[in-house]
Amino acid sequence: MRERVSIEGVDVSPDHFIDGRRVASAEIFETRCPFDWERKLADVSRGDAGTAALAVDAATRAFPVWSAMAAAERGAILHRLADLIDANIERLAIVECMDMAMLHESLRLRVIARGALNFRNYADLASDYRERVWSSRGTANRVIRMPSGPSVIITPWNAPFMLSTWKCAPALAAGNTVILKPAEWSPLSASVLADLIEQAGFPPGVFNIVQGFGRDLGMALVSDPRVKRISFTGSVPTARVIGRAAADNIVPFTAELGGKSPLLVFADADIDAAAKKAAGQYDDSGQVCMAGTRIIVEESVREAFLERFHAYADAHVLGDSRDPATTMSALIHPDHVARVMGFIDRARAAGDTIVRGGKLWREGANFIEPTLIVPRSNDSEVVQNEVFGPVLTFQTFRSEEEGVALANSTAYGLSGIVYTGDAARAERVGRAVRGGTVWVNTFLVRDLTAPFGGIGISGLGREGGDYALDFHSDLKTLQILEGSV
Ligand code: NAD
Repeated sequence: MRERVSIEGVDVSPDHFIDGRRVASAEIFETRCPFDWERKLADVSRGDAGTAALAVDAATRAFPVWSAMAAAERGAILHRLADLIDANIERLAIVECMDMAMLHESLRLRVIARGALNFRNYADLASDYRERVWSSRGTANRVIRMPSGPSVIITPWNAPFMLSTWKCAPALAAGNTVILKPAEWSPLSASVLADLIEQAGFPPGVFNIVQGFGRDLGMALVSDPRVKRISFTGSVPTARVIGRAAADNIVPFTAELGGKSPLLVFADADIDAAAKKAAGQYDDSGQVCMAGTRIIVEESVREAFLERFHAYADAHVLGDSRDPATTMSALIHPDHVARVMGFIDRARAAGDTIVRGGKLWREGANFIEPTLIVPRSNDSEVVQNEVFGPVLTFQTFRSEEEGVALANSTAYGLSGIVYTGDAARAERVGRAVRGGTVWVNTFLVRDLTAPFGGIGISGLGREGGDYALDFHSDLKTLQILEGSV
């Protein structure tokens, strides 16, 4: 085992958590603070195929015991974990803030608590499940949810704690054992979670966490034939690779992928509220899958909207994510800064107009100024491809039809945001915009029981509520001839 490191006073293990104990790897990788890149946070154990095999061994051995427990019994342990998360909000918030640069205030006031809620919500949903029972063609029918086996959960570097808990909770509540692999750019909050898993009283091997890169550790996990479910959140190219591995083993696979969501503003909307929300898409430096990055505004309110938008965008404060005055956090990694700057440079070279930002905030720091681009055409790369940075595009329309057509003109379909003051239009356009979730006059408000997922290249399958519990289960129909027993 490696020595634990102190992150702002919080002791964090740099090792994996397998079979209820810490396991070190000979290889390491380093993780750094995105808003203070000189600062190395930890040398983290870097797992490989051998680590994957150990974790799948443990999860396979633990499965018979965990899956045989009543849902309420498992739920009691999940509730204990949720209580521990609540009791450790401050520790989790500061570690996530240092490792991923999400704003500390938002983590401690909202995001970490949502992780606890994920476990509570799924513990209760699984316990409350009532098998569907009906009579048909002389037989008594019932639908039984059977735990399916070890689930591998692979998560991206943005919002790591919230996304990991959102994906692990339904797998565990359904009776599956779990191997979580957080992303290599922000692994540390998962390690704090492992300490809490140990305290919550899970049987060893039920909930394992391994750290490392996708190409070796991740690939070994998703290729192991003992794994019965793969739940992935990340980019489209990685989903294609994992999907092939899932196909080889005929294993169900969900993919929550990128987005290029429209933020559609009609002239009848509250323009100030819409402009404020649009400038809010720069929060977290735009590293939010559901961000409404294509601003599409009715031509007649173009100037009024832009005036308000620029005022709100000007008010953004870039800087140290621990500072409550900061409103826009850093980008995760210099490689990601280079990737985002590549989009901006290519847009400029191709003739798109950069109307604000478009450059680094400070040389050598992981920040790019809030950027707005008016594309020369809807085919521009920056309109059609996910940038995942503080880069928004601005387009206008003259009719509802044209607005909806622009909104639906990419291969993505994760979400959409519509601003209108007209009830009939809210209903009509809300239905017409292509996206797994469409918000009208609001954004990011979610009910945990609602389905969540993408259309087109934004994803495969649905998570959330019963949809996720069904995914992590084998559904069986049991039919008994009536009167025969
Ligand atoms: P990524 O695809 O590069 O990596 C995601 C995870 O997959 C990481 O843990 C990585 O190590 C792992 N991985 C990479 N190659 C693998 C392989 N061959 N086998 C197994 N695992 C592998 O994505 P990222 O850059 O970390 O995340 C950003 C992307 O995630 C964006 O596209 C964003 O939109 C998307 N995202 C989607 C949602 C959603 O809910 N739809 C939420 C957050 C982020």
